[in-house]
Amino acid sequence: MEMVIKKPDILEIFSKEGISLQQRGRYLWALCPFHSEKTPSFCVNPEKQSFKCYGCGKYGDAIDFVQHYKSLSFKDTLVYLGISSNGQTKTNPPETRRRELIEKFKEWCCNYTKYLCERLRVCNQIDSLVKTSDDLEIKGLSEMYLLRDVYQYHLSILNNREDETKFKLYEEVCYGNRNRENRI
Ligand SMILES: [Zn+2]
Repeated sequence: MEMVIKKPDILEIFSKEGISLQQRGRYLWALCPFHSEKTPSFCVNPEKQSFKCYGCGKYGDAIDFVQHYKSLSFKDTLVYLGISSNGQTKTNPPETRRRELIEKFKEWCCNYTKYLCERLRVCNQIDSLVKTSDDLEIKGLSEMYLLRDVYQYHLSILNNREDETKFKLYEEVCYGNRNRENRI
C-alpha cells in the first residue's frame, strides 16, 4: 500500500524557516542554505512545489528540504511538519500539545502569583482590624488567617523554586482539589 502524504506548501516552509526569497519571473531565488554563496542560485518553483540549487545541486520538494535543512530522518521530518503516517495533517501534534501545556502552566504561575499577593494584601489589611484572637472568631476571619500561611508558602515556591516544584504545586492546586472533591 502506498502512502499518500499531504505535502505542506513549499513557500510556507521557507518563510517558516526564515529563508527569504526574491521573485524573479516565475521563480523565486534565495542564497542557498546548503552551501555558502554570495549570489542566489537556489531556485524555487512554486507551481511545481520544488526547489533546486544550481550551485550545489540539491533539489527536491518541501519535505526533502526540511529533511536536509533540519538533518532529520524522513519519519522525524513528518513528525516535525505535523503529518501523521496516514498522510493527514494532525490538528494537534504532540509538540504543539506540549507547548500549549507549558504556556498554560506559565500563565497559571503568573495568575496565581497575582492572586496570592492580593490575598496576602487583604490579610495585612485585616491585621489592622484584629486586636485579639477573639476578634478573629467574631469577624469570621480565622480561616483566612490559617490560609495565610499557605498563601505565603505557595508564594515562596513561585518566587524561589525551580519549575519542577512549581509544576507540582500547579498540579496540586489545579487538580488536587478536584480529586478531593471527587472523593467526597
Ligand atoms: Zn546550494
